[in-house]
Amino acid sequence: MEAASQPPLLRLDNGRLGLEVAGATHVGLRRAHNEDALGLRPDAYDEFGATSGYLFAVADGMGGAEKGEVASRLAVDALFATYYARDKQADPARSPAEALRAAFEAANGLVYGESLKVVSGMMGTTLVACTVVADQAIVGNVGDSRAYLLRAGRLQQITDDHSFVNEQFKAGVLSAEEARTSPQRNIITRAIGHQPTVQADQFQVGPLQAGDLLLLCSDGLHGMVGDDELLAIGAEPDLQRAAAAYVDAANTHGGLDNVTCLLVRVVARHDAPAPLPGPAAGS
Ligand code: CA
Repeated sequence: MEAASQPPLLRLDNGRLGLEVAGATHVGLRRAHNEDALGLRPDAYDEFGATSGYLFAVADGMGGAEKGEVASRLAVDALFATYYARDKQADPARSPAEALRAAFEAANGLVYGESLKVVSGMMGTTLVACTVVADQAIVGNVGDSRAYLLRAGRLQQITDDHSFVNEQFKAGVLSAEEARTSPQRNIITRAIGHQPTVQADQFQVGPLQAGDLLLLCSDGLHGMVGDDELLAIGAEPDLQRAAAAYVDAANTHGGLDNVTCLLVRVVARHDAPAPLPGPAAGS
């Protein structure tokens, strides 16, 4: 089996938190193409991350005939471009939450515009993103990719899937196990690129503590690997190994779909805020 694609381990510090970031993406065992996209952009963080937030994302494209790959990549590109654009343009007062909302709208607009050019069928993508600002994380979500917080030996799902089976589960029609194994579990009810506008959910997580792990992933992971195993792998101290182990676990359980994970671990919390990196005062 081909190894998972993994960017190098990233170490970041915004003056409040020290972070390690790792990710992995793999086509899985049954699909011809990997339509997932991993949103990690070290270049963007260098300039603006410590002040504006470190932005991370996972997108899971759909549409067949390579349209899914295009949709997920376009969505991640637009998300990053829009989120960090506020630093270069007019609106420095805009909050990270507002910037994230605008970035989701831009991603939707771009993919929707492209989908109109597609002759047959639809293209779209899920998008889950999180930005870490000071000691807070703001999570945005459309579709059935997920964000989790692993803290003190517990796994907490932050996002709520926009999927047919989750709606059936919430209405009491399906049990959790029936929802997890339903043949209709791939039907999503909200996507980036399906409508001219989209409503992203937003969640705030914080204050983050040393040892916390944020996990963003596509359904190729959470649909194949149970909560206990997600939690156990997240305890692995080596974050690159943990990311690779998530991919291996999904493939061990059948690898029915593309699998992507992005892991952000809080490795230090500075209770007396350290000075921000960047130009010296007066320069
Ligand atoms: Ca998928």
